[in-house]
Amino acid sequence: MNLKQIYKDNGALLEGHFLLSSGNHSNFYLQSAKVLENPKTAEILAKNLAKKIKEANIQIDTVCSPALGGILAGYELARALNVRFIFAERVDGKMTIRRGFEIIKNENVLICEDIITTGGSALEAGEVVKSLGGNIVGFAAIANRGFCKIYGEDKEQKKECKLPKNLPFFALGNFEFEIYKPNNCPMCKEGTKAIKPGSRGN
Ligand code: ZN
Repeated sequence: MNLKQIYKDNGALLEGHFLLSSGNHSNFYLQSAKVLENPKTAEILAKNLAKKIKEANIQIDTVCSPALGGILAGYELARALNVRFIFAERVDGKMTIRRGFEIIKNENVLICEDIITTGGSALEAGEVVKSLGGNIVGFAAIANRGFCKIYGEDKEQKKECKLPKNLPFFALGNFEFEIYKPNNCPMCKEGTKAIKPGSRGN
């Protein structure tokens, strides 16, 4: 499957000249939630992700996602794996399990996000599940920003990645973009102006 094309077709991968929240410029921008806007697309992506996980022989009882970004991806993945789904959410900045969701002692839990950048929220969701007696067996995401190492990839995890090195991380592909300082941006040099993604209703 061509992950980049699926993102493009669903308006989740924008091409142009963008001003990022960091102040830097880029010629790509990801609107991760858009790729799951169509349930049929979400189902296909989750099935492909589930296939990779099954091939790795990882036993999973429950998928848990950090809210809000991971919920749709995690729910579809749980459906594809035919397991239970719960989510963790921040309360006053601290990741917690609420809403009557329970962790069964020593059950195998996979943490799922829509996209992993450094994996900070996924790691926090994993810690809270662990503190409640769950056994974290791995991490998953539809896409990866290239800092973390996807299971089976022959490369080193970058220092920005917060996911534990001893657990598998499953994803369908990488989105690695060039990021430019404004004074060194080739699009600026061509004379176009960087726009804030969202400023056109995106
Ligand atoms: Zn620029």
